[in-house]
Amino acid sequence: MDNPVIYFDNNATTRVAPEVVEAMMPFFCERYGNPSSIHSFGGSVADDVEKARCSVAQLLGAKFRDRDGIAAEIIFTSCGTEGDNAAINAAFKARPGRNKLVTSVVEHPAVLSYAKELERQGREVVYIPVDGRGRLNMQALKEAVDENTAIVSTMWANNETGTIFPIGEIVKIAHGSGALFHTDAVQAAGKVPIDVDALEIDFLSISGHKLHAPKGVGALFVRRGVRFSQLLFGGHQERGRRGGTENVASVIGLGKACELAFEKMDEEPRRLAALRDSLEAKIQAAIPQVHVNGDLDSRLPNTSSISFDGIEGESILMLLNMYNICASSGSACTTGSLEPSHVMRAMGIPYTSAHGTIRFSLSGYNTQEEVDKVAEVLPPIIARLREISPYWNGENK
Ligand code: PLP
Repeated sequence: MDNPVIYFDNNATTRVAPEVVEAMMPFFCERYGNPSSIHSFGGSVADDVEKARCSVAQLLGAKFRDRDGIAAEIIFTSCGTEGDNAAINAAFKARPGRNKLVTSVVEHPAVLSYAKELERQGREVVYIPVDGRGRLNMQALKEAVDENTAIVSTMWANNETGTIFPIGEIVKIAHGSGALFHTDAVQAAGKVPIDVDALEIDFLSISGHKLHAPKGVGALFVRRGVRFSQLLFGGHQERGRRGGTENVASVIGLGKACELAFEKMDEEPRRLAALRDSLEAKIQAAIPQVHVNGDLDSRLPNTSSISFDGIEGESILMLLNMYNICASSGSACTTGSLEPSHVMRAMGIPYTSAHGTIRFSLSGYNTQEEVDKVAEVLPPIIARLREISPYWNGENK
């Protein structure tokens, strides 16, 4: 393939920022001490871990610092999935008399699979539906949350459509019944401003590899005063809240990535939204029968979910791949299955559209030239596929 890679799959994972790699490098061969060691070779590493913790806290709006200046509300984890599981697990321990989890139908499997497991263990789980734009049914939420609810867990932003949930309102509903609130902010962190203090969020999880830090590291915010029971039992790391020697280099990388995202929060989302809007406008102008999915009034600036009627998303991806263009047919976790994703089904997107859905997700490394290139190669690809499609007769069947 001669074409340079055009990477429009940043909701699956992102490139590690060169500044992040640079910040991590000393922690492999030079400063490789264990932060729990008594000697200063290891102890000095602990200082850098604490600086990284403060950078994560800053991006999330977690202002509390303990007597030693430590952002003690942040626990480093191995990934977003761990943060999601740990938060929900802790909430049931913190609300022992309550047996219910209220979540949404469009959550990532990091929450939905765990919810299924909890059901097997005898917990009650209520899955709140969404409308055709992926917006949460707030009335259903209000009716579901009650004195038996230990935790409400909803994502901040959807990984497939970018739709943003009204987190402030959801927190109020949860707290109104004495339940705790967790949000999976894996796709939101670094793309939209987050303020856990202002919104009074109890738990929030993020994942490094979605914001230009490495894979295999994440963080969980746990509000001060909320009782936290650990998921991983072991050593006394993370103030006894997560056993296991810290993944130091990656933790440093996550801190640096959060610092960079925080610095760019004023201008980067606007630039991304402009690129995304340009991509959508060009595609809509050149191709008939396309639909942009999600809440167009409230969504991530980098995410565009587009349905092309009458064809298969997998075929579009294969042809885009010939140009070295990377996109996704929805959640990476459901690729390989020809069923429309659970998100598309929950939104009631008709099968003839849902099957032909492509997610383009941008990052700060993408350019207008790349957008132009994708918008140029896509129309002939769609026309060719529609010509041979049994589901296409020139208009939406
Ligand atoms: N939550 C959301 C919304 C995601 O998009 C993802 C990853 O795609 C995860 C959780 C899981 O994160 P991780 O891969 O770090 O476990």
